[in-house]
Amino acid sequence: MSQPILFLVDDRPEMLEALAADLGRRFGTDHRILAEASPGAALDALEELAGQDQEVALVVAGQRMAELPGVPFLLRAHELHPSAKRVLLVGRREWTPTNPAVRAMTLGQVDTYLFEPWLPVARFLYLPISQVLADWVPSRGPSFEGIRIVGPRWTTHSHELRDMLTRMGIPHGWYQAGTAAGRRLLEEAGQDGSRLPVVVFHSGQVFVDPSYAELAAALGYRTSTGAGSYDLVIVGAGPAGLAAAVYAASEGLDTLVIEPQVAGGQAGTSAMIRNYLGFPRGIGGGDLANRALEQAWLFGANLVLAQRAVGLRVDGGRRLVRLSDGAEVSAEAVVVASGVSWRRLGVPRLEALVGAGVFYGAAGAEARAMEGQEVFVVGAGNSAGQAALDLARYAASVTLLVRGPDLGARMSDYLVQEIEEAPNLAVRLDTRVVDGLGSWRLEGLVLRRRGDTATEEVPAAALFVMIGAEPHTDWLTGAERDDQGYILTGHDLLGPDGLPAGWPHRRPPLLLETSIPGVFAAGDVRHRSVKRVASAVGEGAVAVQLVHQYLDRH
Ligand SMILES: Cc1cc2nc3c(=O)[nH]c(=O)nc-3n(C[C@H](O)[C@H](O)[C@H](O)COP(=O)(O)OP(=O)(O)OC[C@H]3O[C@@H](n4cnc5c(N)ncnc54)[C@H](O)[C@@H]3O)c2cc1C
Repeated sequence: MSQPILFLVDDRPEMLEALAADLGRRFGTDHRILAEASPGAALDALEELAGQDQEVALVVAGQRMAELPGVPFLLRAHELHPSAKRVLLVGRREWTPTNPAVRAMTLGQVDTYLFEPWLPVARFLYLPISQVLADWVPSRGPSFEGIRIVGPRWTTHSHELRDMLTRMGIPHGWYQAGTAAGRRLLEEAGQDGSRLPVVVFHSGQVFVDPSYAELAAALGYRTSTGAGSYDLVIVGAGPAGLAAAVYAASEGLDTLVIEPQVAGGQAGTSAMIRNYLGFPRGIGGGDLANRALEQAWLFGANLVLAQRAVGLRVDGGRRLVRLSDGAEVSAEAVVVASGVSWRRLGVPRLEALVGAGVFYGAAGAEARAMEGQEVFVVGAGNSAGQAALDLARYAASVTLLVRGPDLGARMSDYLVQEIEEAPNLAVRLDTRVVDGLGSWRLEGLVLRRRGDTATEEVPAAALFVMIGAEPHTDWLTGAERDDQGYILTGHDLLGPDGLPAGWPHRRPPLLLETSIPGVFAAGDVRHRSVKRVASAVGEGAVAVQLVHQYLDRH
């Protein structure tokens, strides 16, 4: 196969030449650099390359090229080369919210941007291009398969295995049992294919229909603890748990993290996190999680996968956490960071567009980029109502889609009134989203009214889904929780006498301490949590400071 192409388009010849020359110096050895001076010529060339099955890794478009009226250049380029990353070249001095990069990034219309001029080159050209090329590489399929799996692709178990390997960043290949390659692999592994999936490691190890724990152990993770004793046990390896692990282990606490799945939590399932401090072009959730996990490991934290906490009891000064395999680990203190699950819409096309116009959870970070757009919010609770109002400050129109017949059933009166008064905010009751439109970013929604068989297509630039979250706290029955199951901490626990009911100490609980002394909660699982990666990380770090305070006084 010929070298992947970096494709540039801009109508300023000197700029185009300089960019091609600078890119050539760093990437020219293993990439071909092609340039065109107009979107029309560029599309002709891209069409020809698509016809020849040539791989285009990047399309870099000058801002004017991307914006020319009547020529949706980046859209057409993406249709021709769907895996090519799109890069917008923008003026450095236009450092305002109206800079086209702001909206294009928020709506997933481009993958990254370059500032013009891109000096110093190492920082402003080579670094962002290297990063976006690294993100492009997996779309070619793995050049090396550390693990090969033979089995049906679309079963729940297959999905779990694929999700696990993808989130761990392990290159793998999937083969149908009925194909020649699948049959050959089964033969090599000494299997007749009566039990699938068969998982073949590069080392030659073979697993037949392996459990999650078996595979995690084979990948080098610890999957059982025995009856260990630690300074601190952290329940959950999402952002809050991983942050707590990094700070606790780096500050000398003997720390164990328990996680039933893959490290990263909800953040690990997000294709791109754009609002985490220090990553202006965003970072893949899996990448962020793997970095944090590595950091916790380097500081000496112990991680156990394929185990969940199923109970907690107090025995004198020790807190005993019972795990799903029946073992009980003992600790002086516990940080509960078991997070939540967002209820999903379950519409496959919309799931595929998460981050490209479809957003789960709070809308604040995206609101400004919605200027002039048609925006929809699904949900009927206070968070959906608040998000609709925030978005209506910028969007051309906001439509709140409510499944039930009454907006006031679950939303506070003051929000209902504000919504009724907002001129660009409409409410559609008894309405469900049944499908999405758009192949690489959201372009519209398909709606159905209760009782109707007909559907209606509406244009939509963004959809915010806020249909509720469920905290993972069923196992923690001893701690005070709110009526939705979120854990109460600190001030929220205080009764009329300034202490929680049944609290055994004269001191009040510390900021993130639960109603069980020495047990802290951090991140999304906490009552009134912010539900952001940064706040979960912040609370994980703060929880460790509070653990130190608790241990000092204890
Ligand atoms: C699709 C999606 C996209 C998102 N995008 C963004 C974004 O762009 N920016 C942003 O700021 N936020 C985003 N969020 C929200 C953000 O991911 C969460 O706020 C954050 O992950 C919360 O971290 P946490 O550690 O508190 O909980 P979680 O991430 O929920 O992690 C909890 C962990 O605990 C584990 N666990 C559960 N029960 C148990 C148990 N009994 N024992 C042991 N472990 C257990 C879970 O398996 C999980 O790994 C997104 C969320 C989703 C779902």
